Amino acid sequence: MTDSACASRIDEVFSELEARYPNEKDFLQAVGEVIPSLIPVFERHPEFSKAGILERIVEPDRALQFRVSWMDDSGKVHVNRGYRINFNGAIGPYKGGLRFHPTVNVGILKFLAFEQVFKNSLTGLPIGGGKGGSDFDPRGRTDAEVMRFCQAFMSELYRHIGPDTDVPAGDIGVGGREVGYLFGMYRKLTNTHVGILTGRSLECGGSFIRPEATGYGAVYFADEMARAAGKSLEGTTCLVSGSGNVAQYTIEKLHDFGAVPVTMSDSSGWIHDPEGIDAEKLAWVKSLKNTRRGRISEFADEFSSATYHETDRTASSNPLWAVKGDCAFPSATQNEILGPDAQNLINTGCWLVSEGANMPTDPVGQSVFREHGVLYGPGKAANAGGVAVSALEMSQSSQRLSWTREEVDLQLQGIMSRIYTESAAAASEFGFGTDLLHGANIAGFMKVARAMLSQGIT
Ligand code: NDP
Repeated sequence: MTDSACASRIDEVFSELEARYPNEKDFLQAVGEVIPSLIPVFERHPEFSKAGILERIVEPDRALQFRVSWMDDSGKVHVNRGYRINFNGAIGPYKGGLRFHPTVNVGILKFLAFEQVFKNSLTGLPIGGGKGGSDFDPRGRTDAEVMRFCQAFMSELYRHIGPDTDVPAGDIGVGGREVGYLFGMYRKLTNTHVGILTGRSLECGGSFIRPEATGYGAVYFADEMARAAGKSLEGTTCLVSGSGNVAQYTIEKLHDFGAVPVTMSDSSGWIHDPEGIDAEKLAWVKSLKNTRRGRISEFADEFSSATYHETDRTASSNPLWAVKGDCAFPSATQNEILGPDAQNLINTGCWLVSEGANMPTDPVGQSVFREHGVLYGPGKAANAGGVAVSALEMSQSSQRLSWTREEVDLQLQGIMSRIYTESAAAASEFGFGTDLLHGANIAGFMKVARAMLSQGIT
């Protein structure tokens, strides 16, 4: 195929996808973000076109949907929808988290699962891409209700997962508590104690550093970007969004690098503490969010140096990203940095963005970062530490051994460093300069494409 024929075939595949799934906006956005990176790859590798790799890689291997019926504490029956998307299993068992959030639908899970395919490949470990979850909202539910929901969810999901088939983990709304309940039900139903879920507690066969891995990894990745540019995280002011798993451990690792995190958020609003969210304040947030399950607004009641601001969902920008800072770590959800937010970040002097969340920056925001030469670590590279340590947890489960905290952390650092190097090398090799977004897309794609090619048309 000539270069222009190749580009137009790629456009055609995307148009077909748009026509087929017009309501799956997040999924189309995720695919649309990857497609431009692949044009030079397909030009250089006609064998990929011949084998229909693009046509096949944008369709999930399978997508399951099931009913989850459960009873609340008052005896009322609720019905939620459960999902598991097996997106691509060419390089290993499907791997990716479960999200419990009222916004969950097939389009969101397909976007997350598609991203996961590339991310998992980037880790260099043998894991395919998947994602799942439910439109169940754990917020405001008692422990007993969450347990009954998790048990009902697993009473269907258990048929479809296995240590060599599909290994889910946590994501938004699914933390240690939920993973524990899910694992308990799987074990009861199958009478096996195997690594079918990662993010388990240490007592249930989990790995050291798994809870910390995504946040720590996003900071290790930021450090790689900064050092390559002759800069340092030390002494920087950092804007962090979210107050869940990823945000908490991003802040913890920023402390180790001598950086000063000053913001956090939840779905209701955000706090700004110009004196910095230090270790003591972070410990308070962990207790607030992981045990008492309160709102971030309480932070400003507890610490007089902080102010609380409610989020206006109708506004075209989020003022959190207009706070003066050097580095940004979006760690809440998708599309939380839109074009105007990216511009605000530039205006206040931000020079580095490392994405703990999945697809937190929209395409306009990404162009703003590109135009202004921001060091930009896309989620599929910067937040790959979580799934990398999940894969290390799988290895430990298979070995029935537990590696030390130091050993796992060292492996995580090595993996984040390799992801940075390989993404940077792929960007440069395929004519995208130092653009890590294209680099990560290409580096993640190559291994999956080669595996698909070697396995024939399946
Ligand atoms: P948690 O559920 O622990 O925390 C999510 C945080 O984001 C909470 O503060 C939550 O607020 C906030 N949030 C969720 N949805 C929205 C929304 N629509 N608008 C504003 N704020 C919102 O999830 P995680 O920390 O695990 O996940 C955060 C991000 O990181 C997600 O994008 C996830 O996909 C990604 N990620 C997570 C990994 C992991 O290992 N956990 C691995 C790789 C990526 P509230 O409490 O009010 O709901």
